[in-house]
Amino acid sequence: MNLHSIKLKLEQSSCPEHGKHPSVTITGKTLNMSCCCEKFKEALKKKSEKLITESIQNDISSMFKKL
Ligand SMILES: [Zn+2]
Repeated sequence: MNLHSIKLKLEQSSCPEHGKHPSVTITGKTLNMSCCCEKFKEALKKKSEKLITESIQNDISSMFKKL
């Protein structure tokens, strides 16, 4: 799983209300997001969960390709 690429993807998204980009930091294996409002933070949290799930699925499928 590549947390760094997930971080970049999250930082590319902008708040639909304020048009601002979040700042995302990686602490160990978790992502900390700071952004303009709670609503956007919620959306980012959901997005990060989705991206992490996708990333894990990619890891699994590439593992199978190597077999
Ligand atoms: Zn906002």
